[in-house]
Amino acid sequence: MKPQASLSLDLDNQWSYLKIHGDPEWESYPSYLDIVVPRVLAMLRALETRITVFVVGADAARPENHESIAALAAAGHTLGNHSFHHEPWVAHAEEALVYDELARAHDAIAAATGIEPRGFRGPGFATSPALLDTLVRLGYHYDASRLPTFIGPLARWYYFRSARLSPEERALRRDLFGSWRDVLQRNGSHRITTRYGSLVEIPVTTMPGARVPIHFSYLHYLDRISPQVAERYFATALRLCALTRTRPSLLLHPLDFLGGEDVPSLRFFPGMDLHASEKLAITERYVRMLADRFTIITMEEHACA
Ligand SMILES: [Zn+2]
Repeated sequence: MKPQASLSLDLDNQWSYLKIHGDPEWESYPSYLDIVVPRVLAMLRALETRITVFVVGADAARPENHESIAALAAAGHTLGNHSFHHEPWVAHAEEALVYDELARAHDAIAAATGIEPRGFRGPGFATSPALLDTLVRLGYHYDASRLPTFIGPLARWYYFRSARLSPEERALRRDLFGSWRDVLQRNGSHRITTRYGSLVEIPVTTMPGARVPIHFSYLHYLDRISPQVAERYFATALRLCALTRTRPSLLLHPLDFLGGEDVPSLRFFPGMDLHASEKLAITERYVRMLADRFTIITMEEHACA
């Protein structure tokens, strides 16, 4: 029997990319969901796979997106909460503000689809005690906001090397910027406890040991350099996941399904110089590699298993 891997899609919309880029066109909330969603559904149907789609509340609240978002639910995919405004500050805000932001997105997704999300991924791979407390208060089963890499502990090592600290001070700061132990143990899913109860943390899986990214946008980037190197890289990552008994949780983005001709205003993004047919072929090749080696499951199934 094949081991399991969960797969998700962060449904970041055209306006959120324009906003990051400082393009005022974002304020009219331009949407490409009517182009992206049919392509996502067609690929997943061909692979007989169900995944989890993290939906931005501001999109669920706009009637022009209802058909696309409802189609995902109707095809059997599960929906997660990706915050209302898709602002990275959400992890660092006060609990009352975090609650408003998440509850508003939850209600918008439920109103558009009839489905109550049970999981969350924050924009910007950041989390906080206030965020995790809020998720438990909302009755969520899992958080998927972390991308575990070596960057935090490396920053601490540099700080220890350059700062004059007594052994006691060093001991107090042993987990500053995240601990090596956490990085080593927490590439896979694990249960965490908050003030209000517990939930499952499902990090976006990185290469076991090396902790470099292996999600699909990164594979696209490597594939442009060399398809052979990218395929070997991904195959190695998946083999290491199996060897270390890490159940992978990987991540797709809408730009993995779009070409430059679809959204001319996003041509400045890496990989958007390609035609949609080329992008789709690359995405499908790597999703098939995952499906050949693992049984693909939703995030909810991952949280329960
Ligand atoms: Zn996002």
